[in-house]
Amino acid sequence: MKEAQKIKNRTEVPHEETWDLTDLFKDFGDWEKNFMALPKEEEIEKTIQQNFKNKLSESPKILLNCLLFKEELSRKLENLFVYASLRSTEDTSNTQATEAVGKIENKMSLLTSKFAFMNPEILTIKNLDEWIQLEPLKDYKFNLSELIRSKKHILSEKEEAILARVSVPLRIFDEIHSKWNNADLKFLPVLDSHGNSHIVSNSRYSLNLQSQDRTLRTNTFNSYYTEIAKWRNTITSNYYGNMVSGSNISKIRNFSGFLEGELFDDNIPLELYDGLISEVKKNIKLLHRSMKLRKNILKIDSVYPYDRAVSLYESKQNPTFSWEEGRDLVLKAIAPLGKEYVEIATKGLTKDRWIDRAENEGKRSGAFSWGTFDSRPYILQTWNGTLGDVYTLAHELGHSMHTYYSNKNQPYHKAHYTIFVAEVASTLNEALLSNYIITHMKGSDLAKSVLSENLENFEGTVLRQTLFAAFEREASKIVDQDETFTPDKLESIYLDLNKEWYGSESTFPEFTKYEWMRIPHFYSAFYVYKYATSYCASLALSEAFFVDENKAREQVFKILKAGGSKSPLEILKDAGIDFLTPAPVTNAFQNYQKNIQRAEEELF
Ligand SMILES: [Zn+2]
Repeated sequence: MKEAQKIKNRTEVPHEETWDLTDLFKDFGDWEKNFMALPKEEEIEKTIQQNFKNKLSESPKILLNCLLFKEELSRKLENLFVYASLRSTEDTSNTQATEAVGKIENKMSLLTSKFAFMNPEILTIKNLDEWIQLEPLKDYKFNLSELIRSKKHILSEKEEAILARVSVPLRIFDEIHSKWNNADLKFLPVLDSHGNSHIVSNSRYSLNLQSQDRTLRTNTFNSYYTEIAKWRNTITSNYYGNMVSGSNISKIRNFSGFLEGELFDDNIPLELYDGLISEVKKNIKLLHRSMKLRKNILKIDSVYPYDRAVSLYESKQNPTFSWEEGRDLVLKAIAPLGKEYVEIATKGLTKDRWIDRAENEGKRSGAFSWGTFDSRPYILQTWNGTLGDVYTLAHELGHSMHTYYSNKNQPYHKAHYTIFVAEVASTLNEALLSNYIITHMKGSDLAKSVLSENLENFEGTVLRQTLFAAFEREASKIVDQDETFTPDKLESIYLDLNKEWYGSESTFPEFTKYEWMRIPHFYSAFYVYKYATSYCASLALSEAFFVDENKAREQVFKILKAGGSKSPLEILKDAGIDFLTPAPVTNAFQNYQKNIQRAEEELF
């Protein structure tokens, strides 16, 4: 009798399916030795008191030494923390790893708190502006000028202490929403067209909405929003709490409003945010055209909200890929990025074992790319061989290669890149993968599925996230003017935006207006627009490869090598993507238009 395949224990998985973490530490014994060798708190305190505290304004050299002292320590702590965390993600039941993570986290917060005096003291240096123009601080010009930029918004020590205290209860709105969304909502099960019963839950909701069975989709949508609608007063108040706190804190910190305060860290002007929304609105007719195509292919009377996620092409068989097939497909697809890029990636995915792709008991789900300045750029993924896995590999490899090039080309203090640019490198690889499949495998089942998926991705990422961004913008204007929310007000804003976006080929049942209530990202205010901008940037770059491959490659490498040495907008501008002009969004819509046309020709 054949036994059903059992998921392996971590100790049983083949060596070549795991990552090689020896750049960091040989094993936990080695880790422990290095942990013990960390300086004691008293030693750090003594060094700071003797050499740095109340002395930073004495000379640029003292300031530099203090920065270097902190850096050396951070680098050691990071290596210890990342190793323990990676070991814990490969097998969450590994208690040695869990304990190590706790130990190092503790140590990190103890030691880094010793440096809390630094930024306020640096900001009192009178000629800091001049110091950063010259040696020996020239190399820290960007980091220190970022600190100077924030000066206007840092309050007195006492006020900062008050804000730190109140920020704890103010984070509760997000938690309330998450508890409500994940624990309290109870949905009635629904029937499909064959009379089979299906569970409705948060995770099943999107799966059911991808089903080709329209009865199942309709019933799921109705069951879901019947429950959501009951909470409109509660959730409106909760969202108001979140928005009004954010708005008030921004104003206390001398920003004109909530949005301006939130865009400050990335140094993004308001015009970019508003410009994205208005450019999308200008091009919105293309979404109407896509909805018309959807209506015709799915043979339905009109597109309802529950018809938007279903694939336009039902392939006969779900494609599967062995690890080698999937990996080689990605490596072929990224060829436009040049020989060197492909060689490094190939080595990373074979001999150098950047990736942990094994399936084992206790492994963390999902995928990520992570590492330190001193290590390889690791990838965690569980390879099941789906097309989604191939895309995830392309995505995470994009992050890892970005990290690789940033670390190679920038010193430690300028290597770390921000989210605003991070997702460009990863989604570019996805775009290149789509281009490869669509052009090299034209007419195949796979190419047709990808064609449909491309449209859904663009609509889900650029169009829908910008709709969310527009909703947040309207909501923030209300709180910035010290007015309050009512369910009716938010629902009508949301419904109007939906009508403008999805157009006359669509129908908006009563329940449409409640959708805003379920979006968890609204509690990380003004975050979702970054999905849209990164996607636009990567599409603009992938389009550039059709025009002039060498030039496009040069553009991409400017981003990969820049790390965090400049503001994200400057990095993208150096790479030819100027978000203060409409071009990146317009280019992305050109790509979208091309894909709609292809779908009209090949799928209908
Ligand atoms: Zn990513």
